[in-house]
Amino acid sequence: MTIKELDNKYVLPTYARADVEFVSGKNAKLIDAKGKDYIDFTSGIAVVSVGHGNERLTNALCAQVKNMIHMSNLYYIAPQARAAEKLVLASGYDMRCFFGNSGAEANEGAIKIARKYGEKDGEIKRYKIITLDHSFHGRTITTVKATGQASMHNYFGPFPDGFVYAKNIDEIETLVDEHTVAVMIELVQGEGGVQPQDKEKVQNLAKFLKSKDVLLIVDEVQTGVYRTGKFLASNLYEIEPNVVTLAKGVGGGVPVGVVMTTLKDIFSAGDHGSTFGGNYLSSTAICEVMDILNEYDASGELAINMLLFDKALERFYNENQHLFTEKVGLGMMCGLRAKDADTLAKVINSAREHGVMVLKAGRNTLRLLPPLTITEEEIEEGFKRLSAAVKNI
Ligand SMILES: *Cc1c(COP(=O)(O)O)cnc(C)c1O
Repeated sequence: MTIKELDNKYVLPTYARADVEFVSGKNAKLIDAKGKDYIDFTSGIAVVSVGHGNERLTNALCAQVKNMIHMSNLYYIAPQARAAEKLVLASGYDMRCFFGNSGAEANEGAIKIARKYGEKDGEIKRYKIITLDHSFHGRTITTVKATGQASMHNYFGPFPDGFVYAKNIDEIETLVDEHTVAVMIELVQGEGGVQPQDKEKVQNLAKFLKSKDVLLIVDEVQTGVYRTGKFLASNLYEIEPNVVTLAKGVGGGVPVGVVMTTLKDIFSAGDHGSTFGGNYLSSTAICEVMDILNEYDASGELAINMLLFDKALERFYNENQHLFTEKVGLGMMCGLRAKDADTLAKVINSAREHGVMVLKAGRNTLRLLPPLTITEEEIEEGFKRLSAAVKNI
């Protein structure tokens, strides 16, 4: 049987897969099973932050894997403690970390932190968490309910109570009541359409929430780890969240999720846990990814390549205003609003045929999430292919 036939027979069909199978990669280049090469403007949805086949990451992982992959969180794990230090220092916040295995799991941790914070002796339980329309927070029963998209709330009920959806940032304040314990937002909505929030509005919201003792949870699963130019989008927005969640890019492809919080004593032993979370393999990945990206940022290369990518996108947008209506995003989490969903589908398919991988977000947004280490040559080649791909649309 071919891989496609095997997949069709044995894997649950939860994804509408494109008809391509990648077999190798180097930084932002990919090769498929037929030997065709591609420029990767997706990095596996913001995951492969340091590029495919990154030598430093590969070497660090191989060395660790040859020694040991896993022991339980019942014992001290050196790379986990080091990873936590690196994350906290890079954030600039006074926080502690908990390690899980995915974005949804990180957000579950954030929600548990909020729910425990809402439980104070002699006071009414505060449990409500306000999230935004068009948000995306994960696929577990709780995080799917936290996600402000009604279309995702089918079939799987009953769901946990206590999620309230605001139409936009402005509406959040009006929804806060005596039961509200937290607000959870993305600073750039990823799945919702690469939509950055207004900085001043976010800062005002943060001040308001602080005055009400309502926690601010920032879901940085997609925006985090230098994706928007700073380590966290929260750094770029100059706010001080109570809880930050990370996943996607922080492991460079190794599955990890992190919840970081200023509530350093919120949990006691037994309140939360994860068998795999922060094990030798995954926290070695975090340590190496952090070292690579911290250096890449400090050298100025990240800023230069972000600018080059943005310039190339701007040029592509200017040349194709018959297809796109708006340039959106921040840093290397960016894209173009397509005229309509049909046009976008054509662009994505044609791009793949022309050897450049791009993503969709929301209904009609072309989303670009290249590896942060993408080179000037790869940027140029990718946009050259993208231009060729849209010629006849
Ligand atoms: C991808 C994503 C998630 C879910 O992460 P998983 O690792 O797929 O569970 C949650 N929040 C945001 C903002 C995301 O982009």
